[in-house]
Amino acid sequence: MSRPETSSRLVMKFGGTSMADLERIRRSAAIIAAEVRAGRQVCVVVSAMAGKTNELVAWTDGAGKPAAGIDPCDDEYDAVVASGEQVTAGLMALTLRNMGHRARSMMGWQVPVLTDTAHGRARIEDIPPDNLARALEKGEIVVVPGFQGVTRDGRIATLGRGGSDTSAVAVAAALECPCDIYTDVDGVYTTDPRIEQKARRIDRISYEEMLEMASLGAKVLQTRSVELAMARRVPVRVLSSFITPDADGRLPGGGGTLICDEEEIVEKRIVSGVTMSRDEARVTLLGVPDAVDRPALIFRLLAEASVNVDMIVQSQSRSDASVNLTFTVGRRDAARASDLMQSAKAEIGFAELRVDEDVAKVSVVGVGMRSHAGVAQTMFTALSDKGIRIQAISTSEIKISVLIDAAYAELAVRALHGAYGLGYV
Ligand code: ADP
Ligand code: ASP
Ligand code: MG
Repeated sequence: MSRPETSSRLVMKFGGTSMADLERIRRSAAIIAAEVRAGRQVCVVVSAMAGKTNELVAWTDGAGKPAAGIDPCDDEYDAVVASGEQVTAGLMALTLRNMGHRARSMMGWQVPVLTDTAHGRARIEDIPPDNLARALEKGEIVVVPGFQGVTRDGRIATLGRGGSDTSAVAVAAALECPCDIYTDVDGVYTTDPRIEQKARRIDRISYEEMLEMASLGAKVLQTRSVELAMARRVPVRVLSSFITPDADGRLPGGGGTLICDEEEIVEKRIVSGVTMSRDEARVTLLGVPDAVDRPALIFRLLAEASVNVDMIVQSQSRSDASVNLTFTVGRRDAARASDLMQSAKAEIGFAELRVDEDVAKVSVVGVGMRSHAGVAQTMFTALSDKGIRIQAISTSEIKISVLIDAAYAELAVRALHGAYGLGYV
């Protein structure tokens, strides 16, 4: 898989496994050196060493929660968790220098990567390209820590877990160049290769399909990075960092996935991929009075508390004039959603509340669904053949998702992967 060579500039992002220790950093540096040798100006974006951010997050948890009446410490959480990338950016610049290259690190506040003030899940608002461009023009390899930025009042902010992908795409958009994401798999697969060994690498995938796959659980790219790439038309490749340049310092060709416009894809598929997310919780209100204003009331309470609702199912209960209402939220919002419902029990008038976190969402994604019938039927047949009960369904133009018992999630992924003929035979 190759991308059209339109730019002599390139952003190269290396994820946590590719930066896991000094040896992995040296190997990633050799890949960067190969692109520099090929005449490119390279801006590198790095993640923290694999596992580092989890450790930092655990430390901030260990430091305790603020007492009642004291502001939340999200800005200090960011000051701590952003440090993992500061270390690897410096180490990568050091390694490149030791290999004879001109290289320097440039922290989020130095670039600057300007963000809003939503600490812990900040959005990038702007990256003025001048400082980066000046260094690149001087012949330096610039190494930028992913995941971090700076608010307009000078506080460090982080972009949410997996956010270095978004940093990389945002830097590429600012520099108007392509973005190569180096990770521990050699591309985007038809499903997570850790779940299904028969998964196949996808040569090219559209922004839209990749956006659905990422938001439905394919963690190979952070959802926001795909959103940004799509909005700014940044060509993104996903590649393996487990490669070695040849004796002449050239990178092996082949492999990888290009994320691009639908029109650039020759091979037409109905279904491109299967994804799975365990980050789901099901909330059920039993015996809600069948009054026209109740759904509006329930979802207003959730919206006011910024709880994102995904699937919704309402069913008539057979015995009286009441309905059962089921909805799903992200797992971390389950307790909040439950508290909100309990505190409005009298107003809503439901009989019983149930929350179940032992659920998973399995989805099939493909732009071909727009013009082909029978995709849902294949899905439901494959699941029923395995005896897997569907608890809720949601669809969009290019995806179908089902909520199932978490215990069957991987079985369902494999069954669907086979049913759509996605794997190797
Ligand atoms: P990095 O540390 O480089 O950011 P991640 O762990 O965030 O890497 O993402 C890579 C992982 O994403 C792979 O190891 C793979 O298990 C997982 N993954 C999930 N779904 C897919 C998919 N459809 N294609 C490729 N990888 C996937
Ligand atoms: N280090 C951060 C994380 O683990 C960001 C990233 O790797 O993309 O979430
Ligand atoms: Mg990642």
